[in-house]
Order: sequence, then C-alpha cells, then structure tokens
Amino acid sequence: MSLSKYKSKRDFKSSPEPTGGKSNNEKTLSFVVQRHKASHLHYDFRLEMKGVLKSWAVPKGPSLDPADKRLAMMVEDHPYDYKDFAGVIPSGYGAGIVEIWDKGTYTTIEKSDNPEKDLLKMLHEGNLKFTMKGRKLKGEFALVKLKNSDDNSWLLIKHRDKYAKENYNSEDHTPKSSPINKWLAKNKK
Ligand code: MN
Repeated sequence: MSLSKYKSKRDFKSSPEPTGGKSNNEKTLSFVVQRHKASHLHYDFRLEMKGVLKSWAVPKGPSLDPADKRLAMMVEDHPYDYKDFAGVIPSGYGAGIVEIWDKGTYTTIEKSDNPEKDLLKMLHEGNLKFTMKGRKLKGEFALVKLKNSDDNSWLLIKHRDKYAKENYNSEDHTPKSSPINKWLAKNKK
C-alpha cells in the first residue's frame, strides 16, 4: 500500500496535510470520517489497514438507515496520521476545509484471530463487512464494490441492528458551530 498517489496530488509547501505517519502497533484498528468542503461538500470515510487509511469519498455522507445505499468512491490511500487532520487546505488539491465528523475503532463482525488480515481479504473481494465503534457510527456496516465497475464505485450500507435509525441524514448530526457550517453561513450572505 503506497502513498505515492497521495503525495503526487499535493504540494506540502502549501498544504498543512500530513506527509506520512505510521500506525502504532495497538491491537485496535482506527477509522475516521471527515467532512470536507472542497468544490463540493462531501464526506471522506477512512479505515485503517496495513498502516494506511483506505479511503472512500461519500458524497451524501454515511447513513444509519439500512434503506440507504450510499455511493462511496474509492480514492487513494491516505497516511495513518490523516485520521487526526482537520483544518484549512488553502490551495491545490482538495482546497477547502476539513473537519472530523466521527472517529473510533472498527473490526470484523465475526470474531477473528487476525481481524486485519480478514478485513484485507474482504476488501480485495469487494465485500467488506465490519463493526464500527464511533460516537455516531455504531454497529454493523458493509462496503460492497459494484460489479462491473471500473471506476471504484462502492456502496456503504448499514446493517439492520440495534443502532440502525430510519431517515438518517448526516448533516443533521453536524453541530451548527462546526468550522465548515460557520464558513457556509458566512459565505451565504
Ligand atoms: Mn475529500
């Protein structure tokens, strides 16, 4: 898993984004969901695997409603340290504002002696099932690669469990005082 694509897209003289970073050797795997106001407002869904963050852009944001199938476009791996990144990208690729919308840990749904290995296998098969322990995202989810899709289209789907909620909109679960919302309010006038 290489960060060369990540690095080639960015000029670190002007971007405050992390250049690298390694996973600690903790037994848990991290996830982060960042809300990103670039040319369009979207969410970036990132799962730690093999010391980097596997990443998907989710235009509509994650949902806790199992009826929603959220399009998730797989993008380049991001460095592990990106999980703590929030701030302004003044220019260049992804220019705009990034804020952390949710974070926590995730693992396999089934008990496993080697969750990371099992998760990688499911990733390569295009059918990744996992349990999230975040502040907002909890319980079972699936990321399923669309068949015959050459363009990295996946669907992010909440499984029906005790954490499922009908009519979920991630925007309703973002504080009005968030940096992006303040910026949007100011620039509406
Ligand atoms: Mn983004």
